[in-house]
Amino acid sequence: MVGRPRIGVLALQGAFREHARMLRDAGADVVEVRLPEHLEGLDGLVIPGGESTSILRLASLYGLDDAIRSFVGPILGTCAGMILLDRAHLGLADLEVDRNAYGRQVASFEADLELEGEERPFRGVFIRAPRVREAGADVEVLAALEGEPVLLRDGRVLVAAFHPELTDDPRIHERFLELVTEATSVRA
Ligand code: GLN
Repeated sequence: MVGRPRIGVLALQGAFREHARMLRDAGADVVEVRLPEHLEGLDGLVIPGGESTSILRLASLYGLDDAIRSFVGPILGTCAGMILLDRAHLGLADLEVDRNAYGRQVASFEADLELEGEERPFRGVFIRAPRVREAGADVEVLAALEGEPVLLRDGRVLVAAFHPELTDDPRIHERFLELVTEATSVRA
């Protein structure tokens, strides 16, 4: 990778514009991904929050599900994106995830999250968030809320149950871009 990393944002449904803005501000060039060929030459990919059933339906209509399964770079999945990456869907993160697992009363909420290795909390915006039921042995927990993992890393895949793109705090996107820089220097 020379210069700015090229990051794709799956732009079928959901909060893709917000991710694109955060990534540009954090120093990336952003490509909106709507077709398999848009994945070519990307250094990383973001799967946004939204409605996982709609995103998955559109992705399989365009052949993007298989294309994403063969994508080799780092991937960030937030909320619905985390659901899509789990064992039951694209199978790229060793996680079992429950959709809409917080009861109706607490379906959407905000909470300060302690980020591993950082003093300042991260404001987590949870909107009908998924919950991790089980994580494989190699999955690292980077933040938890009341004992439940909400930010996790499985190798090149980073997933958040919340919406970092709906805050002004770039730290999750910056961590993702660090993963991208590491991965591209290993491949170079
Ligand atoms: N509840 C949504 C789903 O099941 C995810 C919500 C979100 O991405 N904010 O897909």
